[in-house]
Amino acid sequence: MKPSLQKLLKFFKLEADRGYDNHAVLGGLARMLDHWVPEARAEDLPEDLIQAIIYRLQDYARLTTKSREETLEGLIRRIKRTIPDFEIAKEPSISLKEAPPQQPVGQVSLQPDQPDHHESAPPELSEETRESTEEQVSISTRQEQETISAEPDEAQTVIEEPIDLDSPVTVLSGIGPRNSLNLARLGIHTLKDLLYYLPRRYDDYSKLKPINRLNYGEQVTVIGTIKNVNTRPIRGGKFQLTEAVITDGSGSLRVSWFNQPYLVRRLHNGMQISLSGKTDQYLGRLTMTNPDWEALEQEQLSTNRIVPVYRLTAQVAAKWLRRVMNQGVSGYAHRVNEFLPKWVIEKANLIDLPSALTQIHFPETEPDLERAQTRLSFDEIFTLQLGVMKQKRDWQNRNARIYEVDDNWMNHQLSRLPFTLTQAQLGVLDDIRSDLKSGKPMNRLVQGDVGSGKTIIAAIGIGMVVQTGAQAAFMAPTGILAEQHYKNLQSLLANSPDDNTLAGSDEVPPPAAILKPEQVCLLVGSTPEAEKEQIRIGLQKGEIKLIIGTHALIEDPVIFSDLQMIVVDEQHRFGVEQRALLRNKGDDAHLLVMTATPIPRTLALTIYGDLDLSIIDELPAGRQPVRTHVLLPTSRERAHSLIRSQVEAGHQAFIIYPLVEESENSEAKAATGEYSYLKEEVFPDLNIALLHGRMKAEEKDQIMRDFRDGKNQILVATSVIEVGVDVPNATVMLIEGANRFGLAQLHQFRGRVGRGSEQAYCLLIPDSSEKIENERLQALVETNDGFVLAEKDLAQRGPGQFLGTRQSGFSEFHLANFTKIEVIEKARRLAHELIELDPDLVKPEHQNLAQAVKTSWTPSQADIS
Ligand code: ADP
Ligand code: MG
Repeated sequence: MKPSLQKLLKFFKLEADRGYDNHAVLGGLARMLDHWVPEARAEDLPEDLIQAIIYRLQDYARLTTKSREETLEGLIRRIKRTIPDFEIAKEPSISLKEAPPQQPVGQVSLQPDQPDHHESAPPELSEETRESTEEQVSISTRQEQETISAEPDEAQTVIEEPIDLDSPVTVLSGIGPRNSLNLARLGIHTLKDLLYYLPRRYDDYSKLKPINRLNYGEQVTVIGTIKNVNTRPIRGGKFQLTEAVITDGSGSLRVSWFNQPYLVRRLHNGMQISLSGKTDQYLGRLTMTNPDWEALEQEQLSTNRIVPVYRLTAQVAAKWLRRVMNQGVSGYAHRVNEFLPKWVIEKANLIDLPSALTQIHFPETEPDLERAQTRLSFDEIFTLQLGVMKQKRDWQNRNARIYEVDDNWMNHQLSRLPFTLTQAQLGVLDDIRSDLKSGKPMNRLVQGDVGSGKTIIAAIGIGMVVQTGAQAAFMAPTGILAEQHYKNLQSLLANSPDDNTLAGSDEVPPPAAILKPEQVCLLVGSTPEAEKEQIRIGLQKGEIKLIIGTHALIEDPVIFSDLQMIVVDEQHRFGVEQRALLRNKGDDAHLLVMTATPIPRTLALTIYGDLDLSIIDELPAGRQPVRTHVLLPTSRERAHSLIRSQVEAGHQAFIIYPLVEESENSEAKAATGEYSYLKEEVFPDLNIALLHGRMKAEEKDQIMRDFRDGKNQILVATSVIEVGVDVPNATVMLIEGANRFGLAQLHQFRGRVGRGSEQAYCLLIPDSSEKIENERLQALVETNDGFVLAEKDLAQRGPGQFLGTRQSGFSEFHLANFTKIEVIEKARRLAHELIELDPDLVKPEHQNLAQAVKTSWTPSQADIS
């Protein structure tokens, strides 16, 4: 057997012995790929096999112990299949579970085959063989250095001062164990984390307003000197009131804080202080109540006119953190390695990375800050783009089973439907048909507005695969949605006897179905354990052909006998990792993901660059568009009376409340408060239910189920309601605080109604009357087309909301809110140019970049957005 395979199997075995803790290789099993892949290629291992190994190991860190075991076992099986001389290998015990290691772990040979050539230096083993972490460090440093310099000699000299951004923050003076713990709470562990811990916002002291120019009700920052600070008890001693006068030469402002007695010790007359807050009025004079405040240092005023404001936690004070950042940035930002090729920097007109990391924290001017933001957001998009393109290429290099059906089969299936498909649906079906017979794994995203009929398309695709005896899995984000799909798919593919979801299907007894009812199963969190066990057995034996479920499908130790087709519904609800996890359950299975949240094309191409795109841009004939109105808050009664009359006519209504504050707790409180008000004062005679994000998944599902089954007439909910559950009888969607939601989300809410044959209504009530002209709300009134709305949203608010949210599946866009569409387009174009030059990023001058792509793809990165 080839030495590279022997080595690989040794790692696998070691990993198995360690209980799959991903520590067999220092830094994780995936780390060995760098060294292993070139070696395997040099030995002419089949590229297919190499790709499969890369693909599986890449995600290894994200897997559960059980899935890790499955993954490694699966790879071994695959190696066995591929390598004919496998059986005569020196290592007879190849199942991971059997037999202890042949030799003590510490002696596993990891010597590089070509001695003393550090590019091919092997990854270290942890603990057992690791001598010190420094060794690892020096290797990577040397590599980084070499790649930026054409002259090896020069590189040698730079090594004198190793740049290790992975060093813990304790290398900074004044950061000991206690402070590093505090920083860890913010997700800052290493110098790199620190440099990339970006400000939440900036206070621009260069644009301060003098006190005499302040207006009432303004959100402002002022700087001044404290005069007359004093604290006294009020309300019979129950509370403390601290008052001060702030002067700045132009005027004075009275400031008060309630119940912050410690202020006495912190505020002194004569102290320079900055205050942020909203101006108020008392007896005709401007005041400020409970403003944020900060003592000023000379430095902030003189050198840093724009001051970064970081997200903090308890134990971490703004001033302290800023000082630490200053130390980190001034000491290390200039030592960060540039990873973009020079021509990319030039073509994109970017500043270099060290300057960007300096200016993003302590910008000298507004334009400097913008250039820094542009550079760093370019980095994010560019590395993401390279990552998804690589993913796409890997995927396209793989082989998948071919599924082909003839027109007769297709016509027969279509004739079983109670309706004819729209042109758009037929188009997507064609795409899927050609994917399935291409011999390459399908990797397709279907975007289609709510109600455009995506499920049926997926069902036919599944039918094409399962009719051959292979298995399919269908994943939905909530239990109730999974149930809904389960019923639909039963009746579409298996003619379930309890079918009641497809109108008309019992008029004409449908011809022979593809599956038997018992071959289709549902697996959700609340499925009883005994039943789950039965399902697992059925899947492993291959008796169950189609499984529909929630996250339970990936969390559960479910093993398929032959999973060939995977469908993910409402895919924006899942992260990329979850998609990957489900994929790992199959062997180069075909993948179809669906979303009802259209995003503009440029963004879709970037974020979903690894997927092929299909669009259903047409609704089935005969749908009545939902009538949308914006109402003044003072006309709320009209909304309530519409709800009442619809309920009297036998229909149901949704009432949505915005997430008022950022914490889920207060979300629950707000919705709960409104709920009791509606229940007790507005609709005391009706059945009202409440649904909010703090509830457990099962509880939410039960409430939705009850509502769907008509047990309640009104459902009060927070944004958790968004996901595509069908309640055809609901005809009113009332959205309170509508101006607080994004367009896409409002459109999703609206999609909850209008699913039946009756006229449906969507009523939007903004927070206050001034918001009635809100552009987003008007846009919603004007069109029912999700794609048009997405483009408008992009034009109005920029790409941030598409990037930074779960919608993208990538939560690690730190600069989402500062990213401009031009930067996205530029990054995408240049990423393509680069891939033309060096598809695998193997050229020496691209090694830093390859590394950056890899790290930006690891999920371990702290989410600091
Ligand atoms: P979504 O795209 O939002 O997932 P669904 O697949 O749930 O939409 O379809 C919404 C409803 O429209 C379902 O009841 C489905 O049976 C029905 N439907 C799908 N395609 C058509 C069609 N071509 N003509 C009429 N009704 C259709
Ligand atoms: Mg759907």
